[in-house]
Amino acid sequence: MGDTEKSIPFFDRDEESKHLQIWGVPHALIDNGTLAELYVVLTRSIGKEMTRRFFYDSAKKAARNLQNSMLDMSNAKTDDVDKLVDRISKFPFYVSSYGYGTGETIKSDARSGKFLFRIEHSFIADELKDRGLEDPTCSFIAGIFAGLAEAWTGEEYSCRELHCASNGSPFCDFELFPGSLTDKFFGEIENIKNVLTKLDDAVESIHETMQNKNVSQKSNSDL
Ligand SMILES: [Zn+2]
Repeated sequence: MGDTEKSIPFFDRDEESKHLQIWGVPHALIDNGTLAELYVVLTRSIGKEMTRRFFYDSAKKAARNLQNSMLDMSNAKTDDVDKLVDRISKFPFYVSSYGYGTGETIKSDARSGKFLFRIEHSFIADELKDRGLEDPTCSFIAGIFAGLAEAWTGEEYSCRELHCASNGSPFCDFELFPGSLTDKFFGEIENIKNVLTKLDDAVESIHETMQNKNVSQKSNSDL
């Protein structure tokens, strides 16, 4: 933290309610094994794409909200590009401080706003590596990176896991980049929306045809 930032305890308890707090925000703690098990259960019930998205979106929202509340309480927010790059380069250490793995920044590019992070011993990959899952499973950590980046920059950010220790890689690599994540899941949603719109149009057109037919039959019978 810089000299101008106020010191806020990372982890403490509310004096009255005794609720656990991180940066002043009440938290319910879920152990890593339970989160990993939840990942497997959801994959079996709602499918891998929706599970990945569920974990990603939840973590992204939580990380963004938490970081925003920390930034509101401190004077840490900055528009200075070099300071922002330096801060974002520290995100893997934030993930380490939560006990989600051991992280480092592999690449950072101020011009494109892209970063490459590496996490060794991702908690979720360590739990799931022998479960026969074929795709990267650490969207929870990817979501944290994207949420933190959005809080610090005020811009839309996304993160995807390039390869994962749960599928045989020695570590998990994540690409953080500005903009939105267009992925298979949303592609499928778009396709479904298009099909539904076409179905709507078809129903509308059948309805109109039927109405016209009724009107013409009625007018014929009136003759
Ligand atoms: Zn992973």
